[in-house]
Amino acid sequence: MYREHTRVVQIGDRKIGGGNPILIQSMTNTRTEDVEATVEQILALEAAGCEIVRCTVPTLEAAEALKEIKKRIHIPLVADIHFDYKMAIAAMENGADKIRINPGNIGSIEKIKAVVDVAKERNIPIRVGVNSGSLEKELVEKYHGVTAEGLVESALDKVKIIEDLGYDNLVISIKSSDVMMCVKAHELLAEQTNYPLHVGITEAGTLYSGNIKSAVGLGIILYQGIGDTIRVSLTGDPVEEIKSAKRILKTLNLRKGGIEVVSCPTCGRTKIDLIGLANQVETMVQEFPLDIKVAVMGCVVNGPGEAKEADIGIAGGKGEGLLIKKGEIVKKVPEAELLSVLREELANWK
Ligand code: SF4
Repeated sequence: MYREHTRVVQIGDRKIGGGNPILIQSMTNTRTEDVEATVEQILALEAAGCEIVRCTVPTLEAAEALKEIKKRIHIPLVADIHFDYKMAIAAMENGADKIRINPGNIGSIEKIKAVVDVAKERNIPIRVGVNSGSLEKELVEKYHGVTAEGLVESALDKVKIIEDLGYDNLVISIKSSDVMMCVKAHELLAEQTNYPLHVGITEAGTLYSGNIKSAVGLGIILYQGIGDTIRVSLTGDPVEEIKSAKRILKTLNLRKGGIEVVSCPTCGRTKIDLIGLANQVETMVQEFPLDIKVAVMGCVVNGPGEAKEADIGIAGGKGEGLLIKKGEIVKKVPEAELLSVLREELANWK
């Protein structure tokens, strides 16, 4: 397990690396300068289970906004910086718990040093991020295109620059929207470094394709014991990223907690609106901090058997359903009441 041997990096009051739980991150898509909107989104992300949040800092006004935002949120705040080293310094001076930079677009060594000096003084971790979209020309030529090897070399070069400046409070990320290139890059990188890795599939796409790409990519990477913090990138509401990240970690048994809903695919035997019900149940169960399995099955043929495997379940009939609890049929419930009866059971779960 690589992740048990990575260094521990403290981000605000949270730790990643060294076998600590894999933390879930997201990024706001509000204007950071708009404190109200940004705080509102971060609080929604927190409620969904986000553990670290990142905001872009493209202006001094955004850097200054971090101070106010930090007072009103409860999770570590990371500043995302591109191009302008002064923004990185201003973000740290305004309380960023970590900064994310790509030293390749910060500019001269003097500018990078100025950023590293402030990080060092305040012991603020730096995430060194490289992206397949901005791989240096020399590495593209050396490896005959954008490759996993090139991405790893680029990341390790950047890390070396910062190490040579006397700082090693670092996290590394390598991003590519090519899922299998991203997988390979992480495999190569994990062999060559013990800095904690921030893992994600970048520009993964909309909810549908982004979720599939992220689940496949993160699934393969995390299953190999690689990755200390994750972000699912989706073109959509960032709260969806948190739901997906939680589901990915839970599916890989890397996180406990939360109700798992299993439901049948429906078939010609289904006589209730099972698709509608399963979707409602999936949303409803998020209210409850239980670590159990709920089955929503369409019929009495396979339904009761499957539902019995779960802690609680429903097996649909004609205009009604059986409520099954811990393997026992409890009662018949009219279809219209199935959701509320299930909610009641969860609210009183012992
Ligand atoms: S549980 Fe019943 S309704 Fe659902 S797929 Fe199986 S046979 Fe069909």
